[in-house]
Amino acid sequence: MRHPCLFFVIKYKGKDNMKSKKLNLIFTVLMVLVFTMASVSMILVYSNNKGKENSPPENTTSKTNQTESQNTPETEKPLKNKKVAFTFDDGPHETRTIKFIDELHKYNGAATFFVVGNRIDINTGKVLKYALDNGWDIGIHGYTHKVFFDNCTNDSYNSELSKTAKEIKKYTNSDTFLLRPPGGRISESRLSACPYSIILWDVDSEDWKNKSENEAEKQKNIDKIVENVLSNVSDGDIVLMHDIYENSYEAFCIIVAELDNQGYEFVSVSELLGNNMQSGKIYYKAEKANG
Ligand SMILES: [Zn+2]
Repeated sequence: MRHPCLFFVIKYKGKDNMKSKKLNLIFTVLMVLVFTMASVSMILVYSNNKGKENSPPENTTSKTNQTESQNTPETEKPLKNKKVAFTFDDGPHETRTIKFIDELHKYNGAATFFVVGNRIDINTGKVLKYALDNGWDIGIHGYTHKVFFDNCTNDSYNSELSKTAKEIKKYTNSDTFLLRPPGGRISESRLSACPYSIILWDVDSEDWKNKSENEAEKQKNIDKIVENVLSNVSDGDIVLMHDIYENSYEAFCIIVAELDNQGYEFVSVSELLGNNMQSGKIYYKAEKANG
């Protein structure tokens, strides 16, 4: 059976050779045109996509965009050339502690919890394990928070430390090497034999003074906490906060968004202080190589 197209060409060949040649020429020119246009469009689409691939991720290119994306964990934010170590005392709290971990996770950051041993149970223990898995440090803040290490007996001092260390180990399978005494108080004579590095602070958020959520005071208190940190913080600082108050959490979200824009990285105490941390020594902030 003859193909219809072949029949068409043969038919024309027989009738008028010149006409057939003309038609073939027009047909060829049309085909070339179609082919060229298709190729040009393909090149245009390709170069457009290529341009997009090489652009930095959206929301990370300019200051204006950053304000909208400050809660997004992007890698191409302003150069991270400053470090701050947030520390949270008096927890773990059954609902709030995890919110601090998740907030810092947005910035690929970590911090440190100084925990009260008698607050650790199966649920808060899981949160501490989650913190550790996210690069946080867990340190001791006493077992009852009622014993102060500058005026207690050796027995209660040792018991406060060992019972808390045991709870931390039980739920995180990890040994702790950091201590923040309740109230920041520890007697000089206890330092040399202390098996932990003692971590105090040089910026106090005073969130414990501004914890009231009373309608008339809440916003003012949050603003005060934010101001206490932002107006005092600088590279290498250790900041004192508490993970048991709602105002602390709301202020913290504002603080980290602003510090992220200023090029701060949020690190645990051990990352801030480095590997040469010593036991029995008090630290207030990062130690500069030149003193
Ligand atoms: Zn405390």
